[in-house]
Amino acid sequence: MKNVLINKIVEIVVTENQLRSFWKKHGEDLEFETLSNEQLMKLAMREIQEASLTELDSHLIDRGWRTRDEIEGKMIAEDNSNPRYHVELIDTDQKGNPSKILIDRMLELHCEDCGFELYIQDSDIDPSSLKCPKDGGKLTITGTNAKKINKN
Ligand SMILES: [Zn+2]
Repeated sequence: MKNVLINKIVEIVVTENQLRSFWKKHGEDLEFETLSNEQLMKLAMREIQEASLTELDSHLIDRGWRTRDEIEGKMIAEDNSNPRYHVELIDTDQKGNPSKILIDRMLELHCEDCGFELYIQDSDIDPSSLKCPKDGGKLTITGTNAKKINKN
């Protein structure tokens, strides 16, 4: 089987208005205004996780609903805790540049002697030409083509 995996960076936006109505729908007692930056990002993640496919469409850039100017502004908080997501809180009333996200392809190596793990960006390199930076031990490949989402 030749299954094709496409790693695409999808930009999902949850606008403040969408957050407000999601918050209201869940009938929380707290005022929306009292939510911290971290709580806003968690709320957005929850909204996306609970969204149906059609609801998700209203969050995707380049699908007719959300426009690029809704993510232009100053990033005032971010959450990197999940390696598969990069979450940013953007204040569109402040000036700033939209962030660029890239996918890096990397090779994961580990030292047979001390277990030290490292990543290198040249995924074509022969690991026997390298030594463990810690103790000079022999390196072997553990994961091929580890991908890392990188923010510029
Ligand atoms: Zn080592």
